[in-house]
Amino acid sequence: MKVIILSIANYKEKDGIITAISEDESLSFLVRGLFDPKSKNAALNNPTTVVDIELVKKNGKYPNLESYSLVSSPYLLRSDLKRLSAIQVLLEATLKLVIEEERFYLYQDLNDALSALKVGVDPNSVVLMYLARVLKVNGYVFSINKCTVCGTKNDIVAFSFYDGGFLCKEHLGEAKADLSIEQMLLLRNVFGSSIYSSIEKMNEENAAALLMKFDEYIKDSFGVNMKSFDLFLK
Ligand SMILES: [Zn+2]
Repeated sequence: MKVIILSIANYKEKDGIITAISEDESLSFLVRGLFDPKSKNAALNNPTTVVDIELVKKNGKYPNLESYSLVSSPYLLRSDLKRLSAIQVLLEATLKLVIEEERFYLYQDLNDALSALKVGVDPNSVVLMYLARVLKVNGYVFSINKCTVCGTKNDIVAFSFYDGGFLCKEHLGEAKADLSIEQMLLLRNVFGSSIYSSIEKMNEENAAALLMKFDEYIKDSFGVNMKSFDLFLK
């Protein structure tokens, strides 16, 4: 079974518990020697590693790792700080914004996002698109083709997370539009696309403006302060 490792906790001495997601479930399993540098299993002590695992049921609470083969490791990105900090955003969003039982719905997206980072797709685009998917898994759907209030496609002047998508001039009312037309079009791509490699590269200024908007909304709606954004936006 192929899984993406999400988090790692100490168990007994050098053993650990790994929480992970597969295509079908969120799961936890016991790994002998996870914290023993001499053990083959120590290679799994690294979130976002993708592995093919065999588990066996024993008497304890968790199934035990019997064997594994490595599919991909984030260590390959070691020297690239922007990409490494992008991985931290993906991980923090998955762990803090989605309840454990539902995390596995993000398996394919997380897998695609990690692969996209590895082959050099723009980290800003990957992160924003993944955040949009995380919101979707939580049931937040946004109108990205027309005014969310009246349905008009004319005079679209703003995007509001709180109103549920785009707003026309009339329905924005007195409020001030805080994104440029270009940024709203990027946001439409971020919400509308499902193929990570297909979104266009965005410049740092646009990415920062969009991430700030996500950041504010995540704080308000989830009560979560995304620490990984700080490093990512540097
Ligand atoms: Zn309207």
